[in-house]
Amino acid sequence: MNENLLKQCQVKLRNELVQTRTSFIQDLKTNTNPVILELAEVLESTSPTDWIDSINEKICPSQFPSYQRLVQIEAALCQIDIGQFGFCCDCEQEIEDPLLEQDPATQRCSQCSPAKVLTDA
Ligand SMILES: [Zn+2]
Repeated sequence: MNENLLKQCQVKLRNELVQTRTSFIQDLKTNTNPVILELAEVLESTSPTDWIDSINEKICPSQFPSYQRLVQIEAALCQIDIGQFGFCCDCEQEIEDPLLEQDPATQRCSQCSPAKVLTDA
């Protein structure tokens, strides 16, 4: 992957991270479960880098797509930091550039990702 695309992905991920954190807190606040509402307050006074530790098991991730996305984005940013970004988590080949342009947090190449993907392009 070229440096340019890597930088683009990093910028996109950072922007999306900020937005996703905001929408995740909003999702928590619209919940009726007191435990979830309390968690929203805790998170607001916690540094976002510690969120995933604070959340640890308190919510069911499948109930909160914004949380799943948050985890995905953080994982991708972490991969950039350690120089492992852009590799498929199944076959370990490089993920195709168009896939990363479409979604920089993507974790699989076109061979391994569930159908569709490149067919629209
Ligand atoms: Zn793959």
